[in-house]
Amino acid sequence: MLCSMINLPTYDDVISASQRLQGHAHRTPVLRSTTADQMLGAQLFFKCENFQRMGAFKFRGAFNALSKFSDAQRKAGVITFSSGNHAQAIALSARTLGMPAVIVMPHDAPAAKKAATQGYGAEVISYDRFTQDREALTSQMAAERGMTLIPPYDHPDVMAGQGTAAKELFEEVGELDYLLVCLGGGGLLSGCALAARALSPGCKVYGVEPEAGNDGQQSFRSGSIVNIPTPKTIADGAQTQHLGQYTFGVIKRDVTDILTATDAQLIEAMKFFAERMKMVVEPTGCLGFAAARHAGLPIQGKRVGVLVSGGNVDLGRLAEFLAA
Ligand SMILES: *Cc1c(COP(=O)(O)O)cnc(C)c1O
Repeated sequence: MLCSMINLPTYDDVISASQRLQGHAHRTPVLRSTTADQMLGAQLFFKCENFQRMGAFKFRGAFNALSKFSDAQRKAGVITFSSGNHAQAIALSARTLGMPAVIVMPHDAPAAKKAATQGYGAEVISYDRFTQDREALTSQMAAERGMTLIPPYDHPDVMAGQGTAAKELFEEVGELDYLLVCLGGGGLLSGCALAARALSPGCKVYGVEPEAGNDGQQSFRSGSIVNIPTPKTIADGAQTQHLGQYTFGVIKRDVTDILTATDAQLIEAMKFFAERMKMVVEPTGCLGFAAARHAGLPIQGKRVGVLVSGGNVDLGRLAEFLAA
């Protein structure tokens, strides 16, 4: 079996990642809300990665992975495929470390995202989503240019980097009864689960994904990775079609269960964050809080960590969501 052959990252890798990130990533705030606590009858601790560099936790994993490159790898640079936060995280990390970066994006990716990625100095290469296979194209380019491919979630160094968010949370507030983490491909959830097992062994760790795309829940409950078509949801950071070999290896061992949230619940959470906590959170970043409110977990009287994963949302769309 492939699974028994791969080396899963450990909490020691999360510790090493946090050392590499020192002075480069923000130590984001843990915010409280009396209103949220009263509403849910629990103590909520929001780890706010919407205030991370480039607006999402993805900087942690990208920077950690690139920091480990050899001199030869640095010289040739990094390549990835993404139209979302991972693209900007790789571009910013590569610029910081002084190496070239190529980002393969669909030709119809939003102009603002292309511009932001180019603004960090990366070369953007477009492909046709309908006729070209992005993974094959990326591998081919990586081979031609000698670049190292860093995928968005299924990589031990990416997972370890993402886990530093939960490490900081536990170090700041102590042990928790529950931790709710947004779930796409599982880089964030698996890294955070490694930190939870080490720093708060009794904590129940849940992944939360969009109801329209519950491949993670199906995979967790069936015991093997389930593939789905790209789900239709406003949570664009969680429109993944499947978990990865590495992320699923950690998730099936260290996670309690996978929950879901609807788009309407995400909009409600986005409004709460804006109105009550005065902060902008992108739809995907609302998954954890939406589940705290609606998934029916017995959190009354408990200490609950909520990972708020990012804040990158187009202002026009945000206005529409808030007016809805
Ligand atoms: C990528 C992303 C996620 C999902 O992370 P995975 O590691 O793919 O599970 C959640 N929220 C935001 C804001 C993201 O950018």
